[in-house]
Amino acid sequence: MGAKIESSLPFIEGRGEIFCRACSGEKLFSAIDFGNLPIANELLLSPEKKIDRYPLHFRICRDCGLGQVADVVNPARIFRDYRYLSSMSSTFLKHASDFALERVEEGKFSLGEWVLEIASNDGYLLKNFLPFGIKAIGVEPAENVAKISRKLGIETISEFFTSELAEKILALNGYPKLIIANNVMAHVPDLSDFVKGLSLLCGPETEISIENPSLANILLEMQFDTIYHEHYSYLSATSVGKVSQKNGLQLFKVENLSIHGGSNRYWLRSLSTKSPIHSSVEEFYNSEKSSGLFEPSEWTNFSDKVAKIRGEFHAWLSDSADKGMSVYGYGAAAKASTLLNSISAKDGLIVAIADVSLEKQARFMPPHGIKIISPNELFTKNPTDIVIFPWNLKLEIAKYLRSNLGDGIRLWCAIPEMHEVDAK
Ligand SMILES: [Zn+2]
Repeated sequence: MGAKIESSLPFIEGRGEIFCRACSGEKLFSAIDFGNLPIANELLLSPEKKIDRYPLHFRICRDCGLGQVADVVNPARIFRDYRYLSSMSSTFLKHASDFALERVEEGKFSLGEWVLEIASNDGYLLKNFLPFGIKAIGVEPAENVAKISRKLGIETISEFFTSELAEKILALNGYPKLIIANNVMAHVPDLSDFVKGLSLLCGPETEISIENPSLANILLEMQFDTIYHEHYSYLSATSVGKVSQKNGLQLFKVENLSIHGGSNRYWLRSLSTKSPIHSSVEEFYNSEKSSGLFEPSEWTNFSDKVAKIRGEFHAWLSDSADKGMSVYGYGAAAKASTLLNSISAKDGLIVAIADVSLEKQARFMPPHGIKIISPNELFTKNPTDIVIFPWNLKLEIAKYLRSNLGDGIRLWCAIPEMHEVDAK
């Protein structure tokens, strides 16, 4: 991924305006329109001012409840050289090892049974199964990340997961006992084929665990900065239930998790399974309906509130600059890109953004080429204020920043509205 948008053409541009990628329905309503924004994770190699922008218009399907943006960007461009390593957050690592241990303690695995993870990243989750003698296979299209996973001893297939790949995996290995697909369904252009692949690999005893930030949190917690081009789809229990059923699977349990600022874990199994469905499924369906998740009027209110939050954040940045404050950012995540680009802030309001990822350092965030520096470089500066962009990790990050910069530093978060982060 380089500084310039390369030659690849927009991917099936406009399809998302007409068809739902989960149910093929055509009744999509507009939830929020950001206009044209740069691609969130494409960081620049130089602070150039000219960058391609693509429409970022978030819509919701009236038929199945899936939230989606048009797939204007080819996934090969986004995910073949991915700059996000799951192992960089201690919160995610603990969440992953807890999940694996719970499954082992449940006694799910007998001799020879195996686990498949789709979008296995650097092996942060699957490595937890290896000490128990459980075979683990990962699917991770980003070759640079798959390499790290292989070094841990995890068989890793560096391809995109499709129904075609599912058939190959099945032919070679039989049915897995457990399939994990965390934070990946949002990134799949052809969601229906992806779920068909899950269905092909789902034997009578297979359970599928899917974690994904929930659409409800965007509406209820004002998490509008999780909307960006690389996130094609925004799941709800309702939409997962419908797309699963269409593909021979059954949603039998939903759990609410605190990770990523509020995710859901959806449990799927074969439609032919006769055991009772957990009461949580009906509860989630009802609560999504009663919170107005599929009501256009609720999203009009949301869109108005987002405009207000963006305006207030911009005013705060301008005011801080006028007062001579030295404002830095922390975490050059895609969230930061959506927020900063959506307010079209003028140059220089944020001096630089610190990020722990070596892959991101020395690059620049569009549109004004805000430099990305290492945390150590940040600590040699004299920031008065730091805006923490990954609000889902704000306490972990705040403690880290305070331990290096002292209690005098003011820490902020712009979502759900501008507030000071107190982690002394
Ligand atoms: Zn739909």
